[in-house]
Amino acid sequence: MKYFAGIDIGSTSIKITLTDEEKNIIGFKTSASGSMFYKYAQETLDSLLQELNIDKNDLAYIVATGYGRKLYKEADENISEITANAIGAIAAAKEYGEIKTVINIGGQDSKAISLDSEGNVVNFAMNDRCAAGTGKFLDVVALKLEIGVDELGDYHFKSTGTPLSVSSTCAVFAESEIIGLLGNNHSVEDIVCGVHYSIAKRIVKLVKRVGVKEGIYFDGGPAMNEGLVNAIENELGKKIFIPKYPQVTTSYGAAIMGVDSYRYEQNL
Ligand code: ADP
Repeated sequence: MKYFAGIDIGSTSIKITLTDEEKNIIGFKTSASGSMFYKYAQETLDSLLQELNIDKNDLAYIVATGYGRKLYKEADENISEITANAIGAIAAAKEYGEIKTVINIGGQDSKAISLDSEGNVVNFAMNDRCAAGTGKFLDVVALKLEIGVDELGDYHFKSTGTPLSVSSTCAVFAESEIIGLLGNNHSVEDIVCGVHYSIAKRIVKLVKRVGVKEGIYFDGGPAMNEGLVNAIENELGKKIFIPKYPQVTTSYGAAIMGVDSYRYEQNL
């Protein structure tokens, strides 16, 4: 049996997805990127292969993507995360229907990608200049509020009343603003909800730069936060589709690309 690996070396985490030749997901694994992208990517792949009892020699093709993609020398090919994200999104939403707009929030950037009816990328907008509107912003907030990023969604839905306004556009200033809100006796729930709406407003602006087309898909680690999903849907005034495993779509797209390249190279 042949296997295909998509390795997404992101700013915050490494995501690896393995597929078979029919592009079915066989398994995936995530780990922190830390400072040694290459070493940790190798370790993550080795451990995934071990868990699945797959021999490295059965890997027919490896495609790397993400910030650290060029460091992964063993890859047969490397592709941009925009391309990999779009391919992965279309495949992950197969049962849902046509995807026209992809929103991705990563650890240190956020993107909006517009697709045509053939699934080609026709436009994209990216914010990678500032932490506001990214996972980093959520990490800073969660740390300050002494809760886990995976708990933010629950706090969001316990908030009552109009969401608080968090206007800072910089993660550092947002921290001071949060200290001020805590000092004024606002609850953690209300602050979390306010933060989600502040991120949602930025994301909606980004999406509007490429055009809001129905068939909206949201992925990246922060898409696991249902509170943030709720805030984006409310700000956008539209339903959005979240895949089952939002953090690994881009690595899934890279693995799919690997299957296609392999078949092309082998004349299959
Ligand atoms: P990148 O591809 O840039 O490395 P990811 O798509 O892996 O980024 O997203 C990383 C971000 O996802 C983290 O900064 C964190 O805010 C968020 N995140 C990670 N795990 C969870 C979780 N279980 N629930 C909600 N958010 C999460």
